[in-house]
Amino acid sequence: MTTRLNYAVLSVILFGLTASSIIVTAQSPRSRPSAKQAGRNLSNPAINSIVRQIDARNIERTIRQLVSFGTRNTLSEQNDPKRGIGAARDWLYAEFLKAAETSNGRMTVEKQSYEQPKAQRVPQPTIITNVVATLKGSQPEATDRIYVVSGHYDSMCNSPTDAKCDAPGANDDASGTAAVLEMARVMAKFEFDATIVFMAVAGEEQSLLGSTHFAEQAKQKNWNIDAMFTNDIVGNSLGGNGIRNRNTVRVFSEGVPTNETTAEATTRRSVGGENDSASRQLARFIKETSELFVPQMNVMMIYRRDRYGRGGDHIPFLERGYPAVRFTEVNEDFRHQHQNVRIENGVQYGDLPQFVDFAYIANVARVNAAALARLAYAPARPKDVTIVSRLADDTELRWEANKEPDLHGYEIVWRDTTAATWGDVRPVGNVTSFTLKGMSKDNYFFGVRAVDKEGNRSPVTFPRPVTRTQPTNRSTTTSSSP
Ligand SMILES: [Zn+2]
Repeated sequence: MTTRLNYAVLSVILFGLTASSIIVTAQSPRSRPSAKQAGRNLSNPAINSIVRQIDARNIERTIRQLVSFGTRNTLSEQNDPKRGIGAARDWLYAEFLKAAETSNGRMTVEKQSYEQPKAQRVPQPTIITNVVATLKGSQPEATDRIYVVSGHYDSMCNSPTDAKCDAPGANDDASGTAAVLEMARVMAKFEFDATIVFMAVAGEEQSLLGSTHFAEQAKQKNWNIDAMFTNDIVGNSLGGNGIRNRNTVRVFSEGVPTNETTAEATTRRSVGGENDSASRQLARFIKETSELFVPQMNVMMIYRRDRYGRGGDHIPFLERGYPAVRFTEVNEDFRHQHQNVRIENGVQYGDLPQFVDFAYIANVARVNAAALARLAYAPARPKDVTIVSRLADDTELRWEANKEPDLHGYEIVWRDTTAATWGDVRPVGNVTSFTLKGMSKDNYFFGVRAVDKEGNRSPVTFPRPVTRTQPTNRSTTTSSSP
């Protein structure tokens, strides 16, 4: 209780700092703070608490338990309580239920099953089951906004259709599954504005079947999935190249949206934007959040959808227009992925627990959890953001008003067109348009993000150009600076 009170006092002080810095900045455009400086005023004790509570020992326990089922191949036994994917499914379901017990009824757990017809890696019709834990958001205006985090609990040895061989899958992908379960365990106790779905999917090695089913259901039901993270192969800190790196995780994001329309492509070729998809903004948001809340970890943004010749559970989401990224360790060791367990010329092959680093996985889970929590506390990223396309020295941005009652206002961010991350930020208050006087839209990339009263920032929305002729009656602020 005392701790909580201290946090409350701290928040008031920090919020005071934030508010004063906004005023100063608005009056003095030349002393604009960088994104990092603005972020320094940003504190969220709940996120710090979540990060602290993630425990590598739980992750180790989950991985060893999943490995103990012998194989989790999607085609393996579904009704044996000891061996096969069915045992793993039931164990995970029970564990997510335990997490839900602490949520005051806000977390529900289900097995989402369907029958997959015969396919390339599915020799006979097979039941695929995702274990899905949904932590419902508490703010009526935000509860339909959904963030999904997944790992795949199926595994394989050399052959994806070998249902009998041992396929421990400690790294691929008990690591991601264990990270997701640990996030659910910790985060179920916290109350967020938006909804978070913690998911263990099957059929990944059979061509992303479980995640495709979930994403397609979401699309059919018109779910507002605002971001999706997949954690796949996040457990090994020692690469096949001999390099040990315990403090970096790769976040893969596509630059050009998988589902880009012809018209969008025409616009992009004209004014750029190949580095500004919603998924890329998400990657930037994760990097920024990690710097704020998990400083021991570096997020290495990779500007591609996935590695060469590989895929992951984020792809079905991208195909349906949902922003999504993939988390993976920095240096992979292919002797411990998709291999029959064996010793060959003195080399141990196989995806065994001895080759995963539980403390490293816990740090990857912390980066995920901090970003998810920040997303679910923050307002939605601004919608319908446009940049007025006309010959002018000024840059005029417009957007739709957010609906959250705890909205504080908006920030315009910009960066050099060659920069990787947003460099400059300007709080503009609770308005739906803003003109930056004397700043050419041709020389920078711009974006808009929403901020709530506690200082939680949304990801950035990149504007699309519009040619505006008619004035609107929206509340407008114009910068007075030259
Ligand atoms: Zn995998």
